[in-house]
Amino acid sequence: MFKWDTLIINATIATMEEGSLAYGMIEKGALGILNGRIEWLGTTAGIKNSIETLAKELIDAEGCLLTPGLIDCHTHLVFGGNRADEFEQRLNGVDYQEIARNGGGILSTVRATREASFDELYQQSLPRFQALISEGVTTVEIKSGYGLDFESELKMLQVAKKLGDEHGIQVKTTLLAAHAVPPEYKDNADGYVDVICTEIIPKIAGLNIADCVDAFCEGIGFSYEQTKRVFDAAARWGLPVKLHADQLSDLNGAALVAEYAGLSADHVEYTSLKSVKAMAKAGTVAVLLPYAFYVLKETKLPPIEAFRKHNVPIAISTDCNPGTAPSSSLLTTMNKACVAFSLTPEEVLTGVTRNAALALGIEDEVGSIEFGKKADLVLWNIKHPADLCYWQGLNRVQRIFK
Ligand SMILES: [Zn+2]
Repeated sequence: MFKWDTLIINATIATMEEGSLAYGMIEKGALGILNGRIEWLGTTAGIKNSIETLAKELIDAEGCLLTPGLIDCHTHLVFGGNRADEFEQRLNGVDYQEIARNGGGILSTVRATREASFDELYQQSLPRFQALISEGVTTVEIKSGYGLDFESELKMLQVAKKLGDEHGIQVKTTLLAAHAVPPEYKDNADGYVDVICTEIIPKIAGLNIADCVDAFCEGIGFSYEQTKRVFDAAARWGLPVKLHADQLSDLNGAALVAEYAGLSADHVEYTSLKSVKAMAKAGTVAVLLPYAFYVLKETKLPPIEAFRKHNVPIAISTDCNPGTAPSSSLLTTMNKACVAFSLTPEEVLTGVTRNAALALGIEDEVGSIEFGKKADLVLWNIKHPADLCYWQGLNRVQRIFK
């Protein structure tokens, strides 16, 4: 009778445990897995019995790095169509307003997403999802927000669920009906917010297909008051909230989502010190999205020093979307977080493991390597975790445990 299903020995284990320093590193570590849970954690030397008899499968990691499975906690990877042509037009000097007047921008994605059948939407989203998970991402958050009516938002969330189910990957779904004002409510954003609060949220909540509600609180999105109404409706239906907050201007979005004990405030470039303090008090995670920052050539940095000083957890995510973050690589995003935001590799790895789990409310199960947590792990063909942020264009995943 074996004690464990799998025993990994001689691994450099970055546990990312809370309160630990230097990645919570265990050199020459060993880890026993039973029924998908971490049932033993320590050093290889700490295993007393003859190692070969302990587990059905014995893996000698030969010093390679073992980390928690990576978590991408903010994506829009389910969408229809392709906007490479707009990318090219912009670089040929056509301005964004003109592209929008000609039917481009977010509303072109809305059109393509509405027109796509469930299967077409699944097939179009699949390569982006596969690219993410090939890099050791084992949990993905996916938002709706290109349907902007009940049926199309539901279709997006169902595609997201199916992507997770078909790949054995945990997908957390977020209803982002308040992403943009749909064309049929042009000049009547309040009318559309009514539909979100009285029809879309109640129906989606009734189907139990969204884990969370999000909104885009911005001059070009929804106002503070409109966002508040969306959050009130989410609260009525028992759904937690998060927010695209203070990306292009400070509308006190981060403070608003903190007021609702929200899971995360995302982007947060223009967030004020007052809002940072509100986030700290509420335990709201700051999700930084360096890829969008880079594509938009933004120059205003998020208040990273203030987040550090007030112990606001920082997470990092791709923001994978067809407009401002055309990327399905979390590893590339991690490098950008180091270079553009001057975060340390340890802060960045924490941001795609433990703090990303916190941003999704699943920190009890995943995000760090600890006794009793899920054996949700990645073995990398590298020796030091900084290498994950350092070199670009190499995928060193050796094995994924999920
Ligand atoms: Zn986003």
